[in-house]
Formats: sequence, C-alpha cells, structure tokens
Amino acid sequence: MASIFTKIINGEIPCHKVAETDDFLAFLDINPNAWGHTLCIPKKEVDRLFDLDEDTYNGLMSFSRKVALAIEKVVSCNRVGVAVVGLEVPHAHVHLIPIDSMTDMDFKNNKARSQKEFAALASEIASQF
Ligand code: 5GP
Repeated sequence: MASIFTKIINGEIPCHKVAETDDFLAFLDINPNAWGHTLCIPKKEVDRLFDLDEDTYNGLMSFSRKVALAIEKVVSCNRVGVAVVGLEVPHAHVHLIPIDSMTDMDFKNNKARSQKEFAALASEIASQF
C-alpha cells in the first residue's frame, strides 16, 4: 500500500508545499514541533533513509539544505535543526525544524496554526527556495 507521503506526492492528500523538484518534495509538517517544521521527502518510496540509493540519499540531503536555507530566511530562529525518525510514516524523510532551544525539537509539541497561516508560511518559504 502506498505511504501517506506517496499519496501527498500523487495529490490524493493535500499538503502545504514548500519546494519541489523532479525527485523531491518539501511540505509543512501537519503537526509541527515548532512553527516552520518542514518535511523533505524523495518521490521514490523507500522506508528507511539509509536504504536509499546513494544518489537519492545525496540528492535528498542537498535538497534539504536548500529548503533549510529558505526556511531561515522566513522563520526567525537560531538555526534549523535536523531529525530523521520514520517511526510514524515508513517513507524516508528529513525533518527540518526551526529552533531556538532543544525543546523546539520535541516531537510532543504541537505548534499547529490555522490552514490560512500554514498556506501563507508555505508560500513565503517557497518564494525563497
Ligand atoms: P516520523 O515518521 O518521522 O516519526 O514522523 C512523521 C511526521 O509526519 C510527523 O511529524 C507527522 O506530524 C507528519 N505527518 C504525518 N502525516 C502527515 C500528513 O498527512 N501531512 C503532513 N503534512 N504531515 C504528516
């Protein structure tokens, strides 16, 4: 069965898109640890990050870096933290989380706001990508 992220790639489930290339997609996390929390995924569905072929892995990291630089231009933060977990969604992804302190990395946070605010933020970050 297709992962929820493949359904997002295919447009079957909506997302607030931040950046897209032929091989990768970035969109806002639905349940952000901190405002601006973004997920970067390969369009190729592979569960575990380190099972990606080397080109896709390197491409995902390079794409994530570009997305992080765009986030930093828009979201006020000390830096963008990076996490890879994958326990909830078995489709490799990089979490980019704007942080000022370690508590901003906490996956128990819920910094969600209105759909209108998500849409505005995604479009601002997209304009810097
Ligand atoms: P992980 O698999 O790394 O443990 O976490 C998966 C992440 O994906 C979580 O931070 C969760 O909030 C996010 N997530 C799960 N389902 C969706 C969804 O349908 N849309 C978006 N935008 N994010 C999702």
